[in-house]
Amino acid sequence: MSWIVMPDGSWLLRPEFQHAAEGMGSPVLCGKCGKVYDLQAVHVTQRYADCSMWRTPCCDREADDRPWKGDYTPIPQHNDEDYP
Ligand SMILES: [Zn+2]
Repeated sequence: MSWIVMPDGSWLLRPEFQHAAEGMGSPVLCGKCGKVYDLQAVHVTQRYADCSMWRTPCCDREADDRPWKGDYTPIPQHNDEDYP
């Protein structure tokens, strides 16, 4: 995998992912191919009562925002308090 899970259960991204996420409004890690993209910049294809669907810009696959699906993982920003 491309990130390091800390003993306390939090996880730390590799520097290249932090770099890739810079300037993005809502950087996420694609759960399908492991690349970084901006959730705010995706083209939403369908909106349902319980989720929105979009195509990932990195690998052009369908994803949605239901957390249990694990389609993406939010990336903590540099200014997050728990990021060292
Ligand atoms: Zn992808």
